[in-house]
Amino acid sequence: MARQFFVGGNFKMNGTIKSITDIVHNLNNAPLDPKTEVVLSPPALFLLLVREHLKPEIEVCSQNVFDKPNGAFTGEISAEQLADSKITWAMCGHSERRVILKEDDQFIASKTKAALDGGLGVILCCGETLEQREANQTIDVVTRQLSAIASKTKDWSKIVIAYEPVWAIGTGKVATTDQAQEVHAAIRKWLGDTISKEAADKTRIIYGGSVSDKNCKELAKQSDIDGFLVGGASLKPAFVDIINARQ
Ligand code: PGA
Repeated sequence: MARQFFVGGNFKMNGTIKSITDIVHNLNNAPLDPKTEVVLSPPALFLLLVREHLKPEIEVCSQNVFDKPNGAFTGEISAEQLADSKITWAMCGHSERRVILKEDDQFIASKTKAALDGGLGVILCCGETLEQREANQTIDVVTRQLSAIASKTKDWSKIVIAYEPVWAIGTGKVATTDQAQEVHAAIRKWLGDTISKEAADKTRIIYGGSVSDKNCKELAKQSDIDGFLVGGASLKPAFVDIINARQ
């Protein structure tokens, strides 16, 4: 069975009510490939605004989720609260949270499990730093990050894996199609060896890191690249071309 192409827009900590409303209107009116699953991830402050105005075919994703359902956790948002607000996805393990917010594999695994238990889909990010790539540790690092999740859940049906080499994020330095395909194929093999053949066949593995309307078509042709997680370019009209990369 073919895996449905998946494109996520990660706005990070960018945008205002006006600029985000403009993006929503643009996407509502653009000719989007109906075969692509599209998910938008604005800052938490704008999740409800986006959900209210965005056409229902496009889903909304929180950039973060906490690993408890409710309680005295100032500043956090739970999977249950997101689901109640029709926010159906959460992102876990983004390198900016791993590095800047010091989130470790165990905490990310705990948040992923909580999101899945709360009924959300999870965009699970993994990826190596430049130093790790140069030391030939890419596959070890990525499989270590994913193994932490595997120790908490064997049900990967609601997980989309985003391979995002840290050196390619926001730098304009995109991985070559060969570099990306090689890691995606290794992740798929890991899924087969660790989870199940079904998980290897069905799990979408998307690429993130300086994806643009210029490089998306070539990347989208690779057999193990099932879509993209797009940062900077998701704030621009060219995001539509990335959603339509397979057309
Ligand atoms: P970028 O970010 O497209 O701006 O490189 C990707 C991401 O961090 O998800």
